[in-house]
Amino acid sequence: FVKIENLEKSFQNETVLHHLTLSFNEGEFVTLLGPSGCGKSTLLRAIAGLITPEDGVIQIDGKNVTRLKPKDRQVGMVFQAYALFPNMTVQENIEFGLKMKKLDKETIKQKVARMIELVELTGKEASYPRELSGGQQQRVALARSLVTEPKVLLLDEPLSALDAQIRKNLQKQIRKIQQELNMTTILVTHDQEEAWAVSDYVYILNEGHIVQSGTPSEIYTQPATEFVANFIGNYN
Ligand code: ATP
Ligand code: MG
Repeated sequence: FVKIENLEKSFQNETVLHHLTLSFNEGEFVTLLGPSGCGKSTLLRAIAGLITPEDGVIQIDGKNVTRLKPKDRQVGMVFQAYALFPNMTVQENIEFGLKMKKLDKETIKQKVARMIELVELTGKEASYPRELSGGQQQRVALARSLVTEPKVLLLDEPLSALDAQIRKNLQKQIRKIQQELNMTTILVTHDQEEAWAVSDYVYILNEGHIVQSGTPSEIYTQPATEFVANFIGNYN
């Protein structure tokens, strides 16, 4: 569903992604794991169209999107550093993407209400981002992305700022919505427990290369290299 072939990206003289080839099936929940600086965010940003690779092809749903603008890719992205519109309320922030799509008022109202319930922000509809905690802001960012039902959802450590209880709940919610909408989801996380719990498939990256891919249990029980074994072992 998402196909990446020979993707290469450098910054100045440093190659960050080395001819990466990987693919994601429709509706699959895939996690990218790897040490800090290995290129995870760069890969997500390339899929989203926020950076231009030097080489390679990105296909989404059979369409070559390599040269398309972010808004034409049907991709939703949530970052660790949430970027909400400061002068819009929670309600308005979440509505924003739907208004761009020109949906009718009643549909927008229903979709937003459902999202607010899902991310447990009932009662905060009229609040502004500055009046929310970091975790609450992050949940607004998540709702804003999910509500547009993108074909591909890219999550770059979206839960890392949250406390453990909310994180567990949200993991489950994301997984549920993702399955309901059959959204292909690519998650970057440092929380391996999260990865093993929610993923259908895992890619392990190191220095811009894929060092292993497989189901969580395959990787966990049969690490392909010493690097993977250490990486998994060291993280928990
Ligand atoms: P982390 O787990 O710490 O978030 P990451 O795997 O997401 O790490 P990236 O953000 O993809 O890592 O960065 C990979 C490499 O690319 C790093 O060495 C980083 O310094 C470099 N890099 C990323 N973005 C830029 C940029 N805009 N300009 C220059 N170098 C960059
Ligand atoms: Mg990153």
